[in-house]
Amino acid sequence: MNDGQTSSRGSASSLLRAFLYADPAAHSLSPAMHRAAFAWAGLRGDYEARRVPPADLPAALAQLREPGVLGANLSLPHKEAALVSLDDLSAAARAIGAVNTVVNREGRLFGDNTDAPGLFDALLDLGAGRTGDREMAGPVVVLGAGGAARAAVYTALILLERDVFIVNRTRARAEELAAFWQNGDADYQARAADLSEIPWSKVRLVVNASSAGLSNPAETPLPGFDFAGLAPGALVYDMVYQPRETRLMRDAQAAGVRAENGLGMLAHQARLAFLAWTGADVPVGVFLGALEERR
Ligand code: NAP
Repeated sequence: MNDGQTSSRGSASSLLRAFLYADPAAHSLSPAMHRAAFAWAGLRGDYEARRVPPADLPAALAQLREPGVLGANLSLPHKEAALVSLDDLSAAARAIGAVNTVVNREGRLFGDNTDAPGLFDALLDLGAGRTGDREMAGPVVVLGAGGAARAAVYTALILLERDVFIVNRTRARAEELAAFWQNGDADYQARAADLSEIPWSKVRLVVNASSAGLSNPAETPLPGFDFAGLAPGALVYDMVYQPRETRLMRDAQAAGVRAENGLGMLAHQARLAFLAWTGADVPVGVFLGALEERR
C-alpha cells in the first residue's frame, strides 16, 4: 500500500487526485473503478471524468504537474495527441503510438499505455496466455486497425509472442499497421490479411479491436463467418464491453466457441494505471466489482 508521501502525491493527509480527460467523458466507467480502488487501498483520493475538447488538452495536461495530482487517463480523442506534450514515454506507449495513462512524477509527466498489458492480463485470466509452443499457440487474428488494434498487435507480438494477422474494413490501414512492425529479423511477424488468407484451423485467439458492435448491437466485424473452422479451444475476445454481449460473441458461442467481452481488459488497464499512480496493487476484482455495480 502506498503512503502518499512523495512530493507529487502531496502529504499523507492531502487529497490525491486523478482524472479522465476525454471528449465526451460523461458516461465513463473509470470514476467508479478508481474510487473503489482508493477506498480499498485506504487512500484519500478522488477521480474525476472531465470533458476536455482537443484545443484544451495542453492546458489540461499542464495541470497534472501540480503537487497532489497523481495523473490522468486519456481516452478518445487524446491518446495520440498527448504524446508531444509529455516529458517521457514508456516503451509500450512509444511502440503503440498512444498514451492512456499519464503519471505525474514530481512535476514531470510520464506517458504509459496500460491497454496492451491490460489486454494481456485479461487474456491470462482466461487461460489464453503464452504457451511457449508456436504450433500449439497458433497465430492471433486482430480485427481493426485503430488505436485499440495497435495495442492489441503489441500485446500479441511482444507480450504473447505470437504471429499476427490484421484484418480491417479498410485494408490500407491494416497494411500501414503491419508495416510499422515489419522487421525481417523479428521472431514474430504481423501482416495484413483478408479473411480468405488466414489459416483459420490454426487460430486459437481472435481479438476484436474494431468498434463494430459498439453503437449498433446487430453489427459484427465477422458477418456470416464460420466460427466452427477455428482451432479447438479457441477464444474470441471482444474489446467492446457496451453492450456486455455483442453479436460477435453470440455468433461465436452459437458455434460452440468461447467468447468474452472487454470488461476484463478495462478493469486490468485501470488496475495498472492505479498501480503506476499510487504503488497500490489493488486486486482486479475490486475494479470488476465496481463495473458490476454500474450494470
Ligand atoms: P478507432 O481508432 O476509431 O478505430 C475503429 C476501428 O474499427 C477501425 O479499424 C475501423 O475500420 C473499425 N470499424 C469501425 N466500424 C466498423 C464496422 N462497422 N465494421 C468493421 N470495422 C469497423 O477506435 P479504437 O479507439 O481503436 O477503439 C476500437 C474499439 O475498442 C472500441 O469499441 C473501444 O470501445 C474498444 N476499446 C476497448 C478497451 C477496453 O478496455 N476493453 C480499450 C480501448 C478500446 P476503418 O479503418 O475501416 O474505419
